[in-house]
Amino acid sequence: MKIAFYSTKPYDRIYFEPMSRDYGIEIRFFEVPCNAETVPLANGYDALCIFVNDYINEAMTEQLARMGVTTILLRCAGFNNVDVKAAAKNGIHVLRVPSYSPEAVAEFAMALLLTVNRHTHRAFTRTRDFNMNINGLMGTDLHGKTAGVIGTGRIGQAMIRILKGFGMEIIAYDPYPNDKLGIAYDTIENVFKKSDVITLHCPLTPETKHIVEAKTIELMKDGVFLINTSRGDLIRTEDLIEGLLQKKFAGVGLDVYDEEGGVFYEDRSNDIIDDENLARLSTFPNVLITSHMGFFTKEAVRAIAETTLENADAVQKGLELKNEVQ
Ligand code: NAD
Repeated sequence: MKIAFYSTKPYDRIYFEPMSRDYGIEIRFFEVPCNAETVPLANGYDALCIFVNDYINEAMTEQLARMGVTTILLRCAGFNNVDVKAAAKNGIHVLRVPSYSPEAVAEFAMALLLTVNRHTHRAFTRTRDFNMNINGLMGTDLHGKTAGVIGTGRIGQAMIRILKGFGMEIIAYDPYPNDKLGIAYDTIENVFKKSDVITLHCPLTPETKHIVEAKTIELMKDGVFLINTSRGDLIRTEDLIEGLLQKKFAGVGLDVYDEEGGVFYEDRSNDIIDDENLARLSTFPNVLITSHMGFFTKEAVRAIAETTLENADAVQKGLELKNEVQ
């Protein structure tokens, strides 16, 4: 099998290069993202391998089918960026990595919470400059507070284990509650109302798009913490900015953003940023933005390569496609 690999970064090669040789799979690494303009690069390949900010729409699936591409390999869990129905209509398999290290993302969500709460990022810049003043860096105890977890799948469950370790009370919302977790589920409105910390761990779907917007922000406690490591579009950014201006939030940690494409994973430090919302968000002292890196541990990156290549191998050998997205 020959794979056209889009949005390549140096760290992708660490595991994919040696492992692909073991499978007898040939990979051509392209640095460009996958989009309508770059999709012709996949001509002559059996599969393409894409990441979170690449996209494949209906017209592109038709083009891929004409080029003889049979498989789309997502090296991530979410698949909101691929028109899965159009791919199926054009006879193209879509496979993903449903789980690699839920702990990696949950631990990162907790890192965001601890950072925005205790201002360690700001303390670092102060002490590095020998400014040992701690004014403005007061946090709050997490112990005994209520954490609202939206989405109790793999990452949500890992997050619950961590939050419990901090002595927090857990309430959760998930349309498919899991009785085995021994936690209290409630309506989504009540989770928004009762929580001191809200952490989002549901996928992006038509139902969850803008799950955090003006009306739901209004339900939240004053001084709430909001953490999003799932997908940017779960939050309506304009409304988040308005909530921040109204001083609703004690802290907001965002590993994802609705307009990540072309900005996240890139060095844009010499450019004029024309995204007004992103520019505004980064001015708030109580907002921490990271570049979609919750997954970024050695264990997770290795597991992503393993599963992606297993998926490719299953296609080339005609085996059962257990990670196919339907
Ligand atoms: P999962 O499929 O194991 O769990 C998702 C949970 O969300 C399920 O329990 C599901 O029932 C629930 N859910 C579905 N619709 C919902 C709704 N309307 N409201 C509340 N809950 C709902 O997925 P996971 O492995 O836990 O991953 C969760 C999300 O995390 C992924 O969809 C992806 O967007 C994101 N993610 C981010 C990173 C990162 O690097 N930041 C890495 C991996 C995954």
